[in-house]
Amino acid sequence: MRKNEGNRRSSWIDIKATVIILSLVAGGLFFSLILTMDNNKKSFVNKSSKVLASTITNSTNSNYPGIKIVSEISNDESTHFALQYPQSEHNSFNEKTKSYIEKIKATYLEEMTEYNKFGGELAGELNVSFETIVHHSGNYSFVFTNTSFIGGANGSTEVVSFHLNPKTGKEITVEDLFDHDFKKLARVSTLVREKLVNEESIKDFLLAEEMNVHTKPIWTNFSNFALTNDSVIFYFDKYQIAAGTAGVPIVTLPIESIGNLIASDYKPKEAVADNSNKNDNNPNTSNKTSNNKNEDESIEDKASDKTKQVALTFDDGPDPEVTTAILATLKKYDAKATFFMLGSRVEYYPEIAKNVEKAGHELGNHTWNHPDLTKASAKKVNSEIANTSSIIKDVTGKNATVFRPPYGAANDLVRGQTDLPSILWDVDTLDWKHRNANELLRIVKSRTQDGSIVLMHDIHQSTADGLDSVLAYLKNEGFTFVTVSELD
Ligand code: ZN
Repeated sequence: MRKNEGNRRSSWIDIKATVIILSLVAGGLFFSLILTMDNNKKSFVNKSSKVLASTITNSTNSNYPGIKIVSEISNDESTHFALQYPQSEHNSFNEKTKSYIEKIKATYLEEMTEYNKFGGELAGELNVSFETIVHHSGNYSFVFTNTSFIGGANGSTEVVSFHLNPKTGKEITVEDLFDHDFKKLARVSTLVREKLVNEESIKDFLLAEEMNVHTKPIWTNFSNFALTNDSVIFYFDKYQIAAGTAGVPIVTLPIESIGNLIASDYKPKEAVADNSNKNDNNPNTSNKTSNNKNEDESIEDKASDKTKQVALTFDDGPDPEVTTAILATLKKYDAKATFFMLGSRVEYYPEIAKNVEKAGHELGNHTWNHPDLTKASAKKVNSEIANTSSIIKDVTGKNATVFRPPYGAANDLVRGQTDLPSILWDVDTLDWKHRNANELLRIVKSRTQDGSIVLMHDIHQSTADGLDSVLAYLKNEGFTFVTVSELD
């Protein structure tokens, strides 16, 4: 500290002046501080509302408030993938799920590159889907199933859970669920083991030693779980505790048996509506003959001047922004089209699916999770198709009347699982790949003929952006826009 001897002689006026100056300075500082804070606050608000704007928009129409479903689908011939995951208004959750997806995708693409390098010729597949389970506490469990096939090898399956309360941003862990109490965990471990050795579908395939290791009372052994209103479900990796035949071992502990172990926030609430009912009845389907187009058909009849038809088809939706924009453009041209929807996305955006129906377009089934059905069991093929037809009917009141296998991959087993005609296409716009409105128009121009079925995807903004020019061109060429089933 600096001492100033001279100040001892200060007069009253000097002191007064000093006080005035000091208070002016302090006042100025105070005001500028307020201004700075205000600016900071403003810029913070601006920044966060920007972040929110980009994430919220898609989730406002969602059946699960605060959550949107993202579908990333590659129709690349040798490396198929369909990745679906939830995103929210909370960055920590978004980054976690996104980085999980990116990691899986990178590994798969590397393995496929390696496989192709050594002359592998079979198409690979990666499919990541998730189930959304809502608990009365506001906590959502997202159970991801990740299946991949490299070459001819048996597929591998992994189940991983993520959790989020979309209101608070809290991500519940298994430790939270059981109060971070080791004794409670030990009890859970015992109950899970009892279930496993008694479970009909698993017990004969159990690997005793592995089961003991992976069900030991260690928190990470139980980190993959879902919290429903009446149970806690634990997931184990395929092959981890049982032979592959048992699939992914799942253990369900009813709340009655563990109610006293669960933390108070997650305890059961009386008479809570069950949110996870997916009914399995297969709606009646019209019996039409297959409408597949043969690409090599002659184009001789171009001369005959009857009205030319084109069936525009949109796959992989519905999407709140893109489908809505596409519906508006179709309306402008009074054009009817066919929408091949994914059950997973209809579940998230029932209102959009309803809008498609209300606008008079044809509803198509494109499976629930977009797997390559030729790699799936008959049971899986059936549930993928039946559940999707069922949700389309529930939501829109109309039956899906046509079916399109993901990647166009179908065989007799696949076709045998549905009465719906399997519809492919002859004009592939590759819109998922180039994401370019001009390129979309160029391909449509160069390939569309009378009777063409044009393949597009209503999850890419560039497709919505390019559609007006596509319709203007086709209309000018004398085409009428029909649904797939209306094609002559
Ligand atoms: Zn598709």
